[in-house]
Amino acid sequence: MAHILILGGTTEASALANVLAERGIPATLSYAGRVASPKPQPVPVRIGGFGGIEGLERYIGAHGITHLVDATHPFAATMSGHALAAAQATYTPLLTLTRRPWAPESGDRWQTVPDIAAAVARLAGPPRRVMLALGRMHVEDFAAQPQHRYLLRFVDAPAQRPALPDHHLVVDRGPFTVDGDTQLLRDHGVELVVCKNAGGTGAQAKLVAARRLGLPVLMIDRPPPTGARLVHGVGEVLEWLRHPADLGV
Ligand code: NAP
Repeated sequence: MAHILILGGTTEASALANVLAERGIPATLSYAGRVASPKPQPVPVRIGGFGGIEGLERYIGAHGITHLVDATHPFAATMSGHALAAAQATYTPLLTLTRRPWAPESGDRWQTVPDIAAAVARLAGPPRRVMLALGRMHVEDFAAQPQHRYLLRFVDAPAQRPALPDHHLVVDRGPFTVDGDTQLLRDHGVELVVCKNAGGTGAQAKLVAARRLGLPVLMIDRPPPTGARLVHGVGEVLEWLRHPADLGV
């Protein structure tokens, strides 16, 4: 009997959980537990880290997991590395489900940097009004460039005040619209948007808004893929599930 473990925290993982539930294919969705109240799911949910690679191996064995789908966010590199190692150690077929990265379009003013550290370094210079569209993570790294006025947007209110001396925090989980984000950028006089190349539609509004306003974007590239087989659509996952001999790693 198949039992698919979906490593989630993304819209792709939720979409896959829906499709598997509709088809009556047993699946469990795993969340890291970063969001206070994740949205309800049509399959059983588990929350919290597994305890590293070995913990994930134990979970796979104890719960009879037959297939692993890594549908984590493209920047969740540690979890993806663990998934690959645990899949290899337990001979569990593994597939990565991820959205395509964004690509610049006509009118975009992007500068691309390889990682967060490079983005922080690129912010050296006179004070500017910067939207840090990175969620809650990595915000503290930008304390190294305290001269800027930062606009932050988090899904949940943080337990502690972010360590940026001059910032304005918006708590909102979206969905975000181009008109709404254009207004937000205007209201705060934003001069530069910093974001990760997450891809997908959910977080794209700010990029279209930046294009509309002619604002530059500092785009942080994705970490390198793990080497596991990678698909972009739920349909491709279903296709892969029909060919269990293909281990995908
Ligand atoms: P990460 O750095 O790759 O993972 C750190 C640790 O968190 C992992 O070693 C694992 O703990 C635990 N973990 C991560 N994803 C998990 C999952 N789906 N189920 C159970 N444990 C998980 O991950 P991250 O960048 O902190 O992201 C955490 C979660 O938020 C991910 O599920 C990701 O899909 C989602 N997310 C991330 C971003 C982002 O920009 N990074 C954006 C949106 C959503 P153990 O080693 O103990 O197993």
